[in-house]
Amino acid sequence: MKIIDAHMHFSNIESFKETAIEKSKLDYSYDGIVKEYEESNVVLGIGMGLVEKEKEGFPDPSSPTPMGLDLDQRIPSSVVYCVGVNPYQLQKQDLEELDKSLHDPKVVGIKIYLGYYPFYAYDEVYQPVYKLAKKYKLPVVFHTGDTYSERGLLKYAHPLTLDEVAVQHRDINFMMAHFGDPWTLDGAEVVYKNRNMFADLSGLIVGTATDIKRYQDSPRFFNHLKHALTFTDNYPKFLFGTDWPLVPVQPYIDFVKEIIPKRYHEDVFYNTALKVFPKIKIYL
Ligand SMILES: [Zn+2]
Repeated sequence: MKIIDAHMHFSNIESFKETAIEKSKLDYSYDGIVKEYEESNVVLGIGMGLVEKEKEGFPDPSSPTPMGLDLDQRIPSSVVYCVGVNPYQLQKQDLEELDKSLHDPKVVGIKIYLGYYPFYAYDEVYQPVYKLAKKYKLPVVFHTGDTYSERGLLKYAHPLTLDEVAVQHRDINFMMAHFGDPWTLDGAEVVYKNRNMFADLSGLIVGTATDIKRYQDSPRFFNHLKHALTFTDNYPKFLFGTDWPLVPVQPYIDFVKEIIPKRYHEDVFYNTALKVFPKIKIYL
């Protein structure tokens, strides 16, 4: 089965580098991802654009809009990306730059970092961004759930807050990153109710293959996730994603395969990504 990783990172972020060394123990580099993707039959990864201006700065108020992938000199041919938005940098000129970036064949969507930046998805500040998403028929991805930084503010990243933006903009497809974890049942209701809301299953675990196994075997740890998936009763609305470098690719594929019924694997690991990110079809 060919696989699309709908959520990964390839940015020069200090906390990702530390995680790769200390927790997931993988090679966070150009060669590292190319090798892991080849070994796991991942044909395309969708990177989430992010730029850190100051060391350990993320969420960084001085980062530019748009934010791209800046880990190495070049981006692997098997990686495309969503440009990141910093709501503090949305002046006229920034919006022009954002508009321009969306013409790049490698740019397949827009990423908004809820919780890392203290604005709700439906806030006025993001409306010019949605206008561009509409203009170019591109999806918008929201970070939701736990923030990978103590400086984040969780209330802005709660999945229930996505209901309002989904209603405001029925003609934009949205992806709720991490399924709002740990508020997955709230996330499930928003996905269930709104035809334009999808969710990725990335970043539910941070660590090595051994850590993934440990969580997987713990009966309580994933009850909330399984409950939420079952409640939505609509597996084709979920997308596989790793959140690499937070976990190695193959063990995470194995984990997601186990929580999704087999007859929906083609959808979750491939078809739904094509539906949400139509621009990627030129790479497949
Ligand atoms: Zn991520």
